[in-house]
Amino acid sequence: MKIKSYYDVIVVGGGPSGSMAAYEIAKAGFSVCLFEKDRDIGYPVRCGEAIGYNGLNQYFKPKKSWIASEIKGATLVSPQNHKIDIEFKNETGYILNRRVFDYDLAKIAVNEGAEVFTRCYVNDLIIKDGFVNGVKLKYFSDVVEVKSKIVIGADGIESRIGRWGGIKTLVKMKDMESCIQYSVSNIDIPQDKMIMFVGKEYAPGGYLWIFPKGENSANIGIGISGKYSKKGKSAKSYLDDFLKKNYPNVSILTTVCGGVSCPKPMSEPINDGLMLVGDAAHQINPMTGGGIASGMRGGQIAGQIAAQSLHDKDYSKEYLMKYPQRLFKEFGNNHNRFYRIKESIHQLNDEDLNYIAEKVSLIPENKRTLSSVFKHAVYKKPSLIVDVFKVFAGI
Ligand SMILES: Cc1cc2nc3c(=O)[nH]c(=O)nc-3n(C[C@H](O)[C@H](O)[C@H](O)COP(=O)(O)OP(=O)(O)OC[C@H]3O[C@@H](n4cnc5c(N)ncnc54)[C@H](O)[C@@H]3O)c2cc1C
Repeated sequence: MKIKSYYDVIVVGGGPSGSMAAYEIAKAGFSVCLFEKDRDIGYPVRCGEAIGYNGLNQYFKPKKSWIASEIKGATLVSPQNHKIDIEFKNETGYILNRRVFDYDLAKIAVNEGAEVFTRCYVNDLIIKDGFVNGVKLKYFSDVVEVKSKIVIGADGIESRIGRWGGIKTLVKMKDMESCIQYSVSNIDIPQDKMIMFVGKEYAPGGYLWIFPKGENSANIGIGISGKYSKKGKSAKSYLDDFLKKNYPNVSILTTVCGGVSCPKPMSEPINDGLMLVGDAAHQINPMTGGGIASGMRGGQIAGQIAAQSLHDKDYSKEYLMKYPQRLFKEFGNNHNRFYRIKESIHQLNDEDLNYIAEKVSLIPENKRTLSSVFKHAVYKKPSLIVDVFKVFAGI
């Protein structure tokens, strides 16, 4: 298979958001090509791999090979090591094998008619009369120009497509989480529970997670706000201290480091002939740092609007505004609420967190929900109760 000189749409980046966009465009009968710079789709994995039940099942029936473990609850650990167990009711979820999952998503897009090329490093946009209408890329040693009506930037946290296309992509330092995660083996933990630790000893301005991955394995990671990672102790030191104290006998099989940008979603992730999706468009949930499901939704909506714009032969920014308009109705407004809740939670000190833990532990175990935790978490700013209510009611 050879790269053609023209496709209706070019997608840059083979993560979940890029594959979903390519899938939707191919399904609508338009030609689409996805370019991925790495050697493999799905590897390297830079993710804790947690996703909610609905986040996955709304698109595809999950294959067994995608799922490392099924999650039925969480244990939240307060600064004074108070453990609160929460049984998930409607909020069950999975820890994925993203290496397999991402690969299969790209395959689903290809089966629908999309073309995929790996080892294709997109290094510039082609812009004519103000409209983005193609990309320049390096494929092995070949320098190639490919034209299109629309380019979709699904190039993740390190995105440059947006900047090249005139979209404001800057993220404030305080909204950048500094993350590091080890995939470990030789760990004995319940396989159906995620464990989260909060407080300044564990993870200032963020949290430390243990996500079970089956067969005595787990992803153990930490995300701390950029506000704190500047001040001396790095995310790696926090994680190493935690492991030394709690799990000194594990072996670390994989290490991933990276930033997670947790600002509000971009209000205009578009320009003439250009759309951004997933992490590139700041579609991560700013509260949890989870971006697989929302990136897939962003990719899906962008793919559908791109197909409509091809049908109507209008690739202007004005036309493409339909994309953020729909996105904000579906989840962008909720992400803005999560952002406000996060801002409030970041003001809490360890005493406050211990107070919340005590309050929540008084709720009978079978009545505890994530929303009850959040309601207590915003007790210092009662006006946010409405936001908590709305995000959990899905309004
Ligand atoms: C440590 C860590 C833990 C996380 N844990 C979770 C979690 O548990 N649950 C969750 O939902 N989210 C989690 N996330 C976030 C999640 O990984 C991302 O939100 C998700 O991968 C976004 O998908 P995407 O398709 O937008 O981008 P990505 O999955 O990052 O894909 C972007 C792709 O674009 C390619 N690319 C970039 N530039 C170019 C170029 N110039 N040319 C060609 N290709 C290019 C990259 O190689 C990459 O494959 C975590 C992130 C980190 C760092």
